[in-house]
Amino acid sequence: MNVLIIGAGVTGLSIGSALLKAGVGITLLEKGSSVAGLAASFTKDGYTFDLGPHIFFGKKVYSKMEEYFDVDKVIVENRKLKRGIYIHGRIYSYPLQLSEILRRMAWRKWPKVLLEIATARLFGAGNEETVHGWVRGKIGKTLVDYIELDTYVRKLYGISASETSADWGKHRLKPLGNLTLWKALDKAFNPKVKGKRRFTYYPPKGIGEIPREFAAYVTAHGGNIRLDTAVEGLIVKSGRVEGVKVLTDGVKKVLSADFIVSTARITELVRMLEPPPPREVLDGAARLRYRDVIILYLIVARERVLDHCFVYYSTRDTWFKRVTEFKHFSAQMAPQNSTSLAVEICVDPGDPSWEYDDRRIFEVVVEEMERVNILKRQEVTDYFTVKVPAVYPVYYLKYQEHLGCMLDYFAGIKNLVSVGRGGLYQHDNMPTAIASGFDVAGLIAEYGRGKTDEIPATIYRKRLHKYEDTF
Ligand SMILES: Cc1cc2nc3c(=O)[nH]c(=O)nc-3n(C[C@H](O)[C@H](O)[C@H](O)COP(=O)(O)OP(=O)(O)OC[C@H]3O[C@@H](n4cnc5c(N)ncnc54)[C@H](O)[C@@H]3O)c2cc1C
Repeated sequence: MNVLIIGAGVTGLSIGSALLKAGVGITLLEKGSSVAGLAASFTKDGYTFDLGPHIFFGKKVYSKMEEYFDVDKVIVENRKLKRGIYIHGRIYSYPLQLSEILRRMAWRKWPKVLLEIATARLFGAGNEETVHGWVRGKIGKTLVDYIELDTYVRKLYGISASETSADWGKHRLKPLGNLTLWKALDKAFNPKVKGKRRFTYYPPKGIGEIPREFAAYVTAHGGNIRLDTAVEGLIVKSGRVEGVKVLTDGVKKVLSADFIVSTARITELVRMLEPPPPREVLDGAARLRYRDVIILYLIVARERVLDHCFVYYSTRDTWFKRVTEFKHFSAQMAPQNSTSLAVEICVDPGDPSWEYDDRRIFEVVVEEMERVNILKRQEVTDYFTVKVPAVYPVYYLKYQEHLGCMLDYFAGIKNLVSVGRGGLYQHDNMPTAIASGFDVAGLIAEYGRGKTDEIPATIYRKRLHKYEDTF
């Protein structure tokens, strides 16, 4: 059996590695000139940068990865990774702790807050289809307003928390889901109750080490990784892909395979289909939207700038959403007496700021950084930007309908499956991407040549019902 995989991010690489292990031949087609996708690291003037902060939380997938490389040598546990969130001029621990909020809130508000949590847990609150209603149904209105949920969601997705699906909350704010008033109070005031310890790992030389190790496994085991090879079209006949059109080294070619796995954005995949799908599928694709990220990297003449590895800025005072300091992840990320930061700004596709030059972005950001007391302009010795398109799939209300319409259509193409962060329109992290990659490979290897017809529908069903059983 011969499988073509579109995209050499961590999803494509983990699928490729697992298929090779199961004896299935694979070729990875990557339009970029290196592997890793969003989990890339790059080095410049002695500094290593990631595309924003990347903590590896995946305890569950850790042991499975050991089948492919010596994980202990590549990633190390870093228990000191403190995360923060800036609200009302102060930095709180992230995830937020009720005890810390109450301590900093006027004590007169406590009875109201506690009563609201209790009633919210008993009776729910408002429209629980939206993330605003869902969070309010867990912690009450006063706390929702206090934590500036709406400001944060607007920065991330460009829409209000009332226009955002509760799926985002169920996925990204999991600890709130099963929080009871008793648990919250016990955790807040009983010193013996400790929070759940998170397994936080990081490769000392940048997150890109993980995809690099998978890529090394692929090449060492007979897999083929073709870089600078963009898939441009998929010729579909009688419910099967019969040809994969690629552009490689300026030459157009048509490849064929028994089965194709795509980790490209599903909205792009739709546009590759020849002949094009029905109008409603194209309409669904036109409505799904991903947000772009502008990352401003700064070199600062100081040993450390932040007390945290990253801080979210849930405030209208800044254009940026998060500031990361790489030295917290690993001392090897920057030389001594100097440090490097990544400042992330989320924008809609077509936003005029996408065209701003580095200096213009720097001027806006550094003025805000001074205002919120992060650093002084004269400490910055260098800066540059990287613009990453289509990073965040926006969980607007009803996105499920549009996604569902596309996945129903794709389920009819029996030898093609769309997976990964962009391929299934899911705001997931690396361990989920890797674990799902292993699962997909497991299904392909299990069914084998000619019997793979059920795989797409199985995977799409799982995606569409992903958040249903969550609280
Ligand atoms: C700012 C930021 C912070 C993050 N923080 C964390 C974190 O702390 N912890 C964590 O675990 N995860 C984090 N993530 C998420 C993590 O990076 C992603 O979940 C993961 O890398 C997704 O991998 P993927 O392979 O599914 O997708 P991608 O990385 O997007 O890979 C898709 C690949 O397909 C290629 N491709 C697309 N179209 C074509 C085509 N037509 N032809 C050929 N190739 C194509 C692309 O070039 C790309 O290489 C973060 C992501 C971002 C952006």
